[in-house]
Amino acid sequence: MNVTDLLLRLGLDPADLKPAPTRAATAQDAAERLGPEPLPCASCGTPARSTRIIDTPNHGRRWLDLCRDCMLAIADRRRPTMPLAATLAVLREAAEEAGVTVRVLVDPPQGA
Ligand SMILES: [Zn+2]
Repeated sequence: MNVTDLLLRLGLDPADLKPAPTRAATAQDAAERLGPEPLPCASCGTPARSTRIIDTPNHGRRWLDLCRDCMLAIADRRRPTMPLAATLAVLREAAEEAGVTVRVLVDPPQGA
């Protein structure tokens, strides 16, 4: 997800985010931002659980402090496509080798 999409998804204006340094974020930065009194989530205001620097198109580097739920909302959950045909072939071979009959149910049904 690119930065523009990320900000849109969270409903954030980069102008509202705190400017970040040009250097890379450090463990010390994280400790200061997420320590005993964490900064508020940039999106919803609850205590932040993660922080990072994003490079925005018109406002440069900004801190993006997020709570757990907002962080998960933008997480890339795409997984590699399941090689279903190959998986079924392996199961078929294993069933033949074991001399058993296997019924495989696929959800959602293929071709549906
Ligand atoms: Zn949040």
